[in-house]
Amino acid sequence: MFRKILIANRGEIALRVIDACKELGIATVAVYSEADRNALHVRFADEAVCIGPPLSSESYLNIPQVISAAEITNVDAIHPGYGFLSENANFAEVCEASHISFIGPSPNLLRMMGEKDQARREMSAARVPVVPGSRGIVAVEAAALAEAARIKYPVILKASAGGGGRGMRVVRSAEELPAAFVTARNEAQQAFGTPDVYLEKFIARPRHIEFQVLGDKHGHVMHLGERECSIQRRHQKLVEESPSPALDDQKRAELGGRVVAALEQMGYSSAGTVEFLMDEDGSVYFIEMNARIQVEHPVTEMVTGVDLIKSQIRLAAGEKLEDVVGRPVSRGHAIECRINAEDPETFVPCAGRISVFRVPGGPGIRVDTAAYADAVIPPYYDSLVAKLIAHGDTRAEAIVRMQRALEMFVVEGIKTSIPLHRKILADGDFAAGRLDTHFLDRFATVVAG
Ligand code: ADP
Repeated sequence: MFRKILIANRGEIALRVIDACKELGIATVAVYSEADRNALHVRFADEAVCIGPPLSSESYLNIPQVISAAEITNVDAIHPGYGFLSENANFAEVCEASHISFIGPSPNLLRMMGEKDQARREMSAARVPVVPGSRGIVAVEAAALAEAARIKYPVILKASAGGGGRGMRVVRSAEELPAAFVTARNEAQQAFGTPDVYLEKFIARPRHIEFQVLGDKHGHVMHLGERECSIQRRHQKLVEESPSPALDDQKRAELGGRVVAALEQMGYSSAGTVEFLMDEDGSVYFIEMNARIQVEHPVTEMVTGVDLIKSQIRLAAGEKLEDVVGRPVSRGHAIECRINAEDPETFVPCAGRISVFRVPGGPGIRVDTAAYADAVIPPYYDSLVAKLIAHGDTRAEAIVRMQRALEMFVVEGIKTSIPLHRKILADGDFAAGRLDTHFLDRFATVVAG
């Protein structure tokens, strides 16, 4: 087992990894930017190293600085959390070359899953159903027009290296395509450093359903059921739950079985998530794989009782899946609300000083946060302030628990998404499990944002 782990991240996920390390008896090293001097991950890690100015490109994304911090403190592994360097194959390679374990899958798998068109091909070859789309990258307008005609409009142009809900453009007709193609390539180049785009059939009212997986370094992979993340704004998740109201045991077993077989064939190790869209007739199609831990992992932890971060660390250290998780049994239902520092109607981020911070508790409630009264939310990073998770024996119980927890969660000094979450949880369609990725459009002011 590792002696000491450096956490190449900040915020709630850095604290979450510290929790796991403490339980495993592993020492921790925090890294931080100048904007995070007073952050809780700095306070609760055993050691902390400042790695640069506030901008992520100069600190949390600065590979030489992170590796120097790891060398100075003599760690034997790095946990990248989510975002930042977590899916950066170069970083994983530099770690290996520096004899530091990267807690995640191999650089090859990171590279394969990071190029979404390649991930589609690999999954399709492994008998996982994939959204109908172009055969690989569409490099010139004529190819895009021909592929779109074959797939049939509407289609969606997607950046191959895209992520975080960015780099997508819906195209409804051949007339719209040429202009959209140029814009999509330019945007992809600017945001992700490569202009490569591919095409998918645009699914009108999909549900987003994803499988949590864990793999060891001995060729074994298992899934821990699914999460539904259909409540999104700007293609980014806001509310997640497990299990999905749209899957029954048979469908779960069938799809989960395909996912596990495909990932075993590819030699996947570590925690990961395989994402699907379900169309209105119940067909399910792969869209992408996130080869890292995800923001919404707690809902799976609440229903399965498996600590995904501890598991990830033990698997990276070479332990076998059967020793780490055994045969978990799912129980009840869990929902997560992402509490962001943003205007609940326009989604404009709202950095600033928190004056009052009162966290709810009681049966079935979990709060993952690095915020506190008097903390300053810096403008440089993503706007997540807290994850509020409610577990109940049934979905209905999880919903009432979430509602009372939202009422008793007090954050003052900054705007947050709490009022929007209250509306969502009180909605009749939400209660009935009638969800799709356009769910939030019904709150008219939200659409304007
Ligand atoms: P990212 O990596 O940026 O998160 P994804 O490929 O995971 O991108 O897609 C994010 C969201 O975008 C999906 O959950 C869904 O809401 C929407 N989306 C992606 N592909 C399609 C599609 N083919 N049809 C309809 N919506 C899509």
